[in-house]
Amino acid sequence: MATLRDQTDQSTALLELLEQTACSFCDGGHLVQEQYKGNEAVVCSSCGTPGAQVWNCQ
Ligand SMILES: [Zn+2]
Repeated sequence: MATLRDQTDQSTALLELLEQTACSFCDGGHLVQEQYKGNEAVVCSSCGTPGAQVWNCQ
């Protein structure tokens, strides 16, 4: 299986797919694209839990 950090373009597409999906850590939250520790990520708008993030290693 390929790692996320080798697949930046696909990972960005993954973030777009994940955006607006329901948070799996709380009720009622959904994921929004945001910077998380300097990386592109999707973070729950309710509880703040990062659902996924893309490491930029260029
Ligand atoms: Zn949440």
